[in-house]
Amino acid sequence: MPAAAIAFSILAMTAIVAVRYLAVSGGFALLTRLRSPGLYEGLDPQIRREIAWSLASAFIYGAPAGLLAWGWQARGWTRVYRGVGDYPLWWLPVSVLVYLALHDAWFYWTHRWMHRPALFRAAHAVHHASRPPTAWAAMSFHPWEAITGAVVIPVLVLVIPIHIGALFAVLAIMTLMGVTNHMGWELFPSWLVRGPAGAWLITASHHQRHHLHYGSNYGLYFRFWDRLCGTDTGLGSFDAPRRGAADRLERAGHGG
Ligand SMILES: [Zn+2]
Ligand SMILES: [Zn+2]
Repeated sequence: MPAAAIAFSILAMTAIVAVRYLAVSGGFALLTRLRSPGLYEGLDPQIRREIAWSLASAFIYGAPAGLLAWGWQARGWTRVYRGVGDYPLWWLPVSVLVYLALHDAWFYWTHRWMHRPALFRAAHAVHHASRPPTAWAAMSFHPWEAITGAVVIPVLVLVIPIHIGALFAVLAIMTLMGVTNHMGWELFPSWLVRGPAGAWLITASHHQRHHLHYGSNYGLYFRFWDRLCGTDTGLGSFDAPRRGAADRLERAGHGG
């Protein structure tokens, strides 16, 4: 019976997304603790909220993914293919770039839109409640925002052919960048981040400025749209005390 199979697929996909989140965010939170002990000090209540919103997002991401996974297997709905030779070999890397570029464009414009005041309060304030964000904030979205993110890959697999391995590469990059862009320090070497490639790629140093100043650096993977639209204000730094630390110092200074 399809309904039971679809429900099972949705539950399985939700579990996979949740476990992936807990494993990758947990792994980088542990790495953060080893590298910079105390960086997340005093943020426990915020981290608990980040985990709760992220697990709710896991269901929102898992539902369309589970439906599509079932439709792929049972009905041949998607353009996901298994044979490496089904399309030219050059399409393997190019399809990854095409998926990332389209996801990036969708993210940039919906993200800018969600910074309009009314929408910000309704949909995006949850994500910015992380001040400063941690490795656990990767999927910390209000359900409205999670829906805008959850539909992207399911729609793309219906339209644009992609090898199952290339799709896993896209999902791995999405997960890695979502976590590392929020964890409060730069994972990638300076020659990359501050070199020619970094002029076009988004890492933690770029997204850090979005969480600090709000009105710029809206992109996801690439700086293309930010640079084209004049919303790129360059890279931030993790040297100065982070906002959370500054807030705590200030509170301590005022006796509370
Ligand atoms: Zn963010
Ligand atoms: Zn934002």
